[in-house]
Amino acid sequence: MGPSPSHAFDPASLRIGQGFDVHAFAEGRKLILGGVDVPHTRGLLGHSDADVLAHAVADALLGGIRGGDIGKLFPDTDPAYEGADSLKLLAAVADKVRAEGYDILDVDSVIAAQAPKLSPYRDAMRENLARAMGVPVENVGVKATTTERLGFEGREEGISASAVCLLCRCS
Ligand code: MG
Repeated sequence: MGPSPSHAFDPASLRIGQGFDVHAFAEGRKLILGGVDVPHTRGLLGHSDADVLAHAVADALLGGIRGGDIGKLFPDTDPAYEGADSLKLLAAVADKVRAEGYDILDVDSVIAAQAPKLSPYRDAMRENLARAMGVPVENVGVKATTTERLGFEGREEGISASAVCLLCRCS
């Protein structure tokens, strides 16, 4: 082995972030998850497009830079964000991460929803989130689970999403 690795990096340059979000179902709303308009009888209630997955991912990124949360960044009292495309909010958060000197290395996420069935839309969600963050789609994971009819997700009162990310101040 050579005397020094060519990709030596300081472990202190790594950060992890975690995000979690919940939105309640409401009549007469679109169901937007990871930027995909998912066909369903109801959508999620929120000031923006209520994309619970995009919000969880954005909060994971903000957690990684200890940058607060999207509620603080994009207040729901601000009419500018009414009906907002959450992928645009996510893109703004990714820019903020890079402005802090961090690269987004990897993101994984899970949606908890009893219905509808989300697996057919998973890859489209990955592509949308990856494009919004400016990272390769290989570095974005999206999974979906039911909660075996337990809890508010299981009673179909709402949907939750959680996400983790790995950031590096490597370059
Ligand atoms: Mg939210």
